[in-house]
Amino acid sequence: MAKKQGRRRHVPHRTCVACRTVRPKRELIRVVRTPEGEVAVDERGKQSGRGAYLCPQRTCWEQALRRRVLDRALKVSLDGETIAALRAYAEGLPERIELDEEDLAAKEEVDGREEE
Ligand SMILES: [Zn+2]
Repeated sequence: MAKKQGRRRHVPHRTCVACRTVRPKRELIRVVRTPEGEVAVDERGKQSGRGAYLCPQRTCWEQALRRRVLDRALKVSLDGETIAALRAYAEGLPERIELDEEDLAAKEEVDGREEE
């Protein structure tokens, strides 16, 4: 029997605080406010603290920083140093990613075919 994966398993979804797109959690990047009050990129998504999710694309990060949505989401006032650090992180991201619902559906289809 082929292993049943993907379609049945519950995949946690999160909303990007900048563009409000809902994506599977693992496709988003988590920014966390640690219990110490520091804001950092939490690439593994495991750090404790209040988290906010952003798409792995620069446009969302820039929008989030410019419009202060991260401050609101994390209930913190980002200082200049933190903003600079987040900007620097965003520099390493692609400006835009092509990953909409259709791409996700197509990927799932390919996976399904391989299971047969
Ligand atoms: Zn986004």
